[in-house]
Amino acid sequence: MFPTSFTYHQAQSIEDAVAVLERNPGAKILAGGHSLIPAMKLRLAAPEALVDIGRIAELREIRVDNDIRIGAMATYDEIRNHVVLAALFPILPEAINVVGDQQVRARGTLGGAIAHADPAADLTAVFQALNGRVKVTGPSGEREIAADDVFVDLWTTSLQPNELLTTIVFPRPAPGTKMVYAKHSHPASGYAVVGVAVVLAMSDGSVSDSRVVITGATSRPARATGAEGALNGHSLTSTTIADAASRASAGLQINGDTYASEEYRAHLVNVITRKALEQAAAR
Ligand SMILES: Cc1cc2nc3c(=O)[nH]c(=O)nc-3n(C[C@H](O)[C@H](O)[C@H](O)COP(=O)(O)OP(=O)(O)OC[C@H]3O[C@@H](n4cnc5c(N)ncnc54)[C@H](O)[C@@H]3O)c2cc1C
Repeated sequence: MFPTSFTYHQAQSIEDAVAVLERNPGAKILAGGHSLIPAMKLRLAAPEALVDIGRIAELREIRVDNDIRIGAMATYDEIRNHVVLAALFPILPEAINVVGDQQVRARGTLGGAIAHADPAADLTAVFQALNGRVKVTGPSGEREIAADDVFVDLWTTSLQPNELLTTIVFPRPAPGTKMVYAKHSHPASGYAVVGVAVVLAMSDGSVSDSRVVITGATSRPARATGAEGALNGHSLTSTTIADAASRASAGLQINGDTYASEEYRAHLVNVITRKALEQAAAR
């Protein structure tokens, strides 16, 4: 199918992109296009204008200082192949390796994945588990949004329609932090039926702080607070892991569909959490 007609703007700078968004309330940002273009072809999205941000060089920059800053237009491949990033955050290449196929990883961007907020996306959960934040620029300037406040609902974030996500910021992980992404993929689409991102700060052999984030099962990435509570202050023994995993789905609003019922998905959340925690313990 063909998309409805639209005007095309190639933004030359962040300010230019924001100005075009401001002048065109029906406009959408075009990043890698791997979610937006299929949605337009299926007429699930019909933006009146596209603002292509692909030529804005600063949106591709990756900077490693005290904080780690990844430009919104950095592609999955650029992030996966960045040696320093991979050493600091092994969970990034681990999750990217199970996103779509090589074409998707070559063009898809981290900023696009977060802004799109697909409920079965992989990197949204990783972003939240790493306690990231995003910088966004709009007509009244720049603001930051913490990961826990970014995702609102299915395909919905707290960004305003006239705001551009420019940068993803991650705090430097404490030495010894364990991180794992585990996924049960849908056999047809490859998207997560359930994905679990686990980031565990360790102190004297015990978990001092944990972030366990579920994707695929809920309308937006969700912290598994039951599991986190069972991990904090404990060493990663098989008993702790079994206890934490059994609490992973507690309190979550789990969705069902024709492939996986609500009950099955809730069970899978616990199973994949256990798998992720066992892998974390072995690292
Ligand atoms: C065949 C296929 C398989 C896939 N499999 C997976 C998978 O297994 N796991 C997975 O997680 N994803 C998967 N994806 C989705 C892929 O990861 C997308 O590329 C990604 O979700 C969106 O990134 P993008 O750069 O392509 O964004 P686009 O498609 O360009 O944009 C997506 C949305 O975000 C908005 N947007 C993009 N960038 C910004 C920005 N900087 N500021 C504000 N708004 C912005 C756009 O306006 C649009 O609404 C798959 C896609 C395809 C086509």
